[in-house]
Amino acid sequence: MRIAIPKETHTGENRIPLTPSDTKKLVRAGAEVVVEAGMGAASGFVDHEYIEAGATLSSNRDELLGSADIVLRLRKPELEDIHKIKKGAIHISYLDPFNEHELVRAFKEAGITAISMEMIPRTTRSQKMDALSSQANLAGYVMVIQAAAHLPRIFPMMMTPAGTLKPANVFVIGAGVAGLQAIATAKRLGAKVTAFDTRPVVAEQVQSLGGKFLEIDLGETGETADGYAKELTPEQVEKQRQAQKEVIAKSDVLITTAQVFGRKPPVLVTKDMVDGMAPGSVIVDMAAETGGNVEGSVPNETVHVGGVTIIGMGNLAGEVARDASQMYSSNLYSLVDDSWDEETKAFVIDFEHDILPGCIITHGGEITNETIKNVIEGEA
Ligand code: NAD
Repeated sequence: MRIAIPKETHTGENRIPLTPSDTKKLVRAGAEVVVEAGMGAASGFVDHEYIEAGATLSSNRDELLGSADIVLRLRKPELEDIHKIKKGAIHISYLDPFNEHELVRAFKEAGITAISMEMIPRTTRSQKMDALSSQANLAGYVMVIQAAAHLPRIFPMMMTPAGTLKPANVFVIGAGVAGLQAIATAKRLGAKVTAFDTRPVVAEQVQSLGGKFLEIDLGETGETADGYAKELTPEQVEKQRQAQKEVIAKSDVLITTAQVFGRKPPVLVTKDMVDGMAPGSVIVDMAAETGGNVEGSVPNETVHVGGVTIIGMGNLAGEVARDASQMYSSNLYSLVDDSWDEETKAFVIDFEHDILPGCIITHGGEITNETIKNVIEGEA
């Protein structure tokens, strides 16, 4: 099977889909890997490393896409790229299928099997393929580094002959993969960390990282069978806002990562709460790009509201592109390897597989993922 890796085209994206070392593994498995010239450069991988790994290079993107049995990439494709891929090919990338209806329809009409990295079920067995987790983990780290760089204070307590500096107070809202890494990173830097999440199971995880869990009685919250938070009622959101207000006012750094799968993130920090923070405080809103947890955050911008800095950086993992690429590449390789037939040296689409059907969005000219089908066809 011919696996093609086109160059990422999104402005400012420095992550890449496949490293030379994972290329080598695919070649060893019997795949013919073709890489667009310069594909790895943004993450510091040069063409000759791919050639040494057994791949060939192509400078003709149209031909590269048109001859591929499998296309591996990071970002969702442009519509025009989909039209270049042959019928029956497999396309694996982020896809944002809840929002990208036009792309999903284009994949369906082109008869391409589109696999969405966001939709890989969060099971124990699929952890090695879970790009949402690998990238969120790095995003958690980057948020704290960004906050530290903007805060006019240090994170740890420091006792010096020139006086004692108190540790910074960090409050993390949402303690999923990114939030937990943010807590761990802030603790490593010496901050005092408090966190809140609507899933009660998280309290113990926060405490095991040395953070304090803020107890708020919101009544029934729970989580879905997939381990995601359920959406709160407007009354519960209001209750949460009020209960967090005091902690936010005392925090030097506020990090928000609250998401509800497949929905717009909740607005948990209102303008008056931002106004209540001391001048110089820093907020990092991880949800800024998708609507924001914080009133006043602007996607991909750092803004100042009163004396408070609000960071709305979108591609957080992209700030550490080399490691992010290595992890994403490993996720992609594991996904391919898991469905690779050693005898025929081909990727097998199996709707009885425990992981694949959940993340296949289109196949054989149909939208096969029921959740996405309902969202898209419900709209028509
Ligand atoms: P996510 O990005 O969907 O959401 C981030 C966090 O926001 C979650 O912890 C969620 O509970 C929280 N949240 C939602 N509404 C909130 C609110 N109003 N206030 C505060 N917090 C709020 O989550 P994620 O990081 O992708 O993780 C989702 C789940 O998947 C978790 O249970 C995680 O442990 C689980 N998971 C499992 C595996 C695995 O077993 N393979 C891998 C990764 C994640």
